[in-house]
Amino acid sequence: MKVYISVDVEGLTGSTSWESTNLGNLEHGAVAEQMKREAMAAALGAIDAGADEVYIKDAHDSGRNMDITGFPKQCRFIRDWTNSPDSMIGGIDKSFDAVLFVGYHSPAGFDGNPLSHTMNRGNNYVKFNGELCSEFLMHAFYAAELGVPSVFLSGDRALCSHVHHWDPQIRTVAVKEGLGEATISITPEEACERIRQAAREGVENRASCHIQLPETLTMEISFKDHYRAHRASYYPGVKQTGPYTVEFTGHSVHEVATARMFIL
Ligand SMILES: [Zn+2]
Repeated sequence: MKVYISVDVEGLTGSTSWESTNLGNLEHGAVAEQMKREAMAAALGAIDAGADEVYIKDAHDSGRNMDITGFPKQCRFIRDWTNSPDSMIGGIDKSFDAVLFVGYHSPAGFDGNPLSHTMNRGNNYVKFNGELCSEFLMHAFYAAELGVPSVFLSGDRALCSHVHHWDPQIRTVAVKEGLGEATISITPEEACERIRQAAREGVENRASCHIQLPETLTMEISFKDHYRAHRASYYPGVKQTGPYTVEFTGHSVHEVATARMFIL
């Protein structure tokens, strides 16, 4: 069995400031260490459930945050960026049996995490068919179109509720919650224990995880700068709907993800 684990940073236990998420910052080392621990816990959970190939994508910023020493031999690492529409699950294909998300965070438009955003900090929100779209949803849709179920997510509490809105079967672990500009986190040890257990259950339960894909998908983006909406309007099929907003409708997730790659 082959699984994909996408690992971000803003939804790890303890991560709380933008500066600490940047490679080279003094606080980055501790965050990257926790990224590794949580990725390792999810990998071990997947292996407990029978996975014998585990692809782990470092899916934050440079894509080169995590030290890869010490992982089980079933693991492979996707570092840096594939520059393709699958983005944070770069390299995924139909041969995978499940996808897991670790360290994921609330989308732009949510107040559940001081680090809430969607793909970058240049937008007020991204919506799919009128509903706020997280990085989780974007990639879960992409995987679903390939027939790969999303089975597990760890991150902030508000994101876990959002995930269950889309599929109550996905196992989630809330490792922290936002309180204003602060976060309240559980211990790294408890986070890893719970992630390993829930990742195992998620992979075992993969046959019952299912996200319903819509027939047509309209992506709306509200940019923070009006000139970015103007720029995006030149992508074929994109409609500018206001000074800051654009819309794109596709008949496949792949089509929307490709547009997203160029305009967001
Ligand atoms: Zn990130």
